Amino acid sequence: MLRWQQAEGKRHALDGPFPPRPDERFEALCGEEVTVAVRDVPQLGGHWFDPTCTGCESAWLARC
Ligand SMILES: [Zn+2]
Repeated sequence: MLRWQQAEGKRHALDGPFPPRPDERFEALCGEEVTVAVRDVPQLGGHWFDPTCTGCESAWLARC
C-alpha cells in the first residue's frame, strides 16, 4: 500500500504494509533511500512541515 512518510527533509512516498519507524531506512518511490527520525513520526510528536518530494509525487500519481 502506498503511504507518505516524511524523512530527511522531504515528504516521500513508499510502498509498504507498515509506516516506517524511527531509525528505519526505506526506499522511497523516487528511488532515494532515506532514514526516518523521531521528529518525522506524528505519533511521537513530530510534524510534517517538510515539502513534498516531487519525484515521489509523480511516481505516486503514475501508480494511481
Ligand atoms: Zn521522494
